[in-house]
Amino acid sequence: MKRVGVIGGGQLAWMMGGAAKTLGIELVVQTPSLTDPAVRVAASTVLGAIADATATATLAQQCDVITFENEFVDLEALAKLADQGVQFYPRLEAIVLILDKFHQRSFYQRIGVPTPNFLAWEAGTPNPFGFPVVLKARRHGYDGYGTFICQNAAELEAASQNSEQRWLLEQFVPFERELAVIAARSPAGEMVIYPVVESIQGEGQVCRQVYLTGEFDGEVSQQVEAIARNLLTALDYVGVLGIELFLTPTGQVLVNEIAPRTHNTGHYTLDACVTSQFEQQLRAVCGMPLGSPALTCAGAVMVNLLGFESSESDYAEKRQQLATLPNAHVYWYGKTQTRPGRKVGHVTVTLQPGANRTTAEQFAQWIESIWYPS
Ligand code: ADP
Repeated sequence: MKRVGVIGGGQLAWMMGGAAKTLGIELVVQTPSLTDPAVRVAASTVLGAIADATATATLAQQCDVITFENEFVDLEALAKLADQGVQFYPRLEAIVLILDKFHQRSFYQRIGVPTPNFLAWEAGTPNPFGFPVVLKARRHGYDGYGTFICQNAAELEAASQNSEQRWLLEQFVPFERELAVIAARSPAGEMVIYPVVESIQGEGQVCRQVYLTGEFDGEVSQQVEAIARNLLTALDYVGVLGIELFLTPTGQVLVNEIAPRTHNTGHYTLDACVTSQFEQQLRAVCGMPLGSPALTCAGAVMVNLLGFESSESDYAEKRQQLATLPNAHVYWYGKTQTRPGRKVGHVTVTLQPGANRTTAEQFAQWIESIWYPS
């Protein structure tokens, strides 16, 4: 039996639990708290912060390979473990290019992946892009934290006072849609690309809904697929890669960012695909043949259940109501604390033949009307 170490014990690691069981793999999780979701599905847990490389050394002793559900690690310290023979998939060389958003964009430029214009920026220096403009913390941004869309010089100045951060400044893209795709690659170089989805961000730029309704089949999908293959190959990548993109009004696809792990926009794969992104990650990092990404239904809509208050409630009644919707799959991450904007669960509705985007939007509205207080 293979033992896979996972750095991070949140919902992404928790959702690997089912696939691990099916594949006969044991998960060992490194996470800061015993109440974190993935502790419930792990064969054992190493208590430690994500960036605690001493904890990762302990993890390595118990595992054949280590993968990530959270990339905010101490790469320099992990590199020493890699030198001693610890196998990380994806490799640290790939993660180092991703952790800093300026390095990420520079890398896209080098390999010819289209991306918004950008530069490394310091407060008080010129902004060549005009307004609106987008200011991003180079490191540790997620779920919209660390991203500021500034309408004028005063807002840019105010945003850059937020912290001592090093910044990336980039052109504001008046995108038509935000797209996403899950891609995977095995150590042997086998690649698999899932269908293109649209993600809708809500307040604070947090992903609220994901639609898979076939709208991007054809030209757009071809562009996305070429980008995904380019990225996987150039990174000599092993594992699952989440790719977020912008579709511009002229039909061009630009990469916004990539995540070296499973991704929120791929949760639908649990219920709508032959192989989920979580199973795919385990297959890839264990050197097994990759599974088919084909759909098992006509489409899907995924709605994040985002916290709307600070609470310890388990919202049992709302969850029961959500589960009554036909073809709805309700996932509850079992977090002990809910707070505004926190991802505490999600619902995927698989679509029947004939259903379209409007049908999917009606399902999403229904789910949100139950979940959020009116
Ligand atoms: P995070 O890493 O926190 O997810 P992102 O870089 O993905 O940050 O930005 C969050 C959201 O902000 C995006 O999903 C998009 O809606 C918006 N955004 C980011 N960059 C741009 C841009 N250059 N132009 C327009 N909107 C942007």
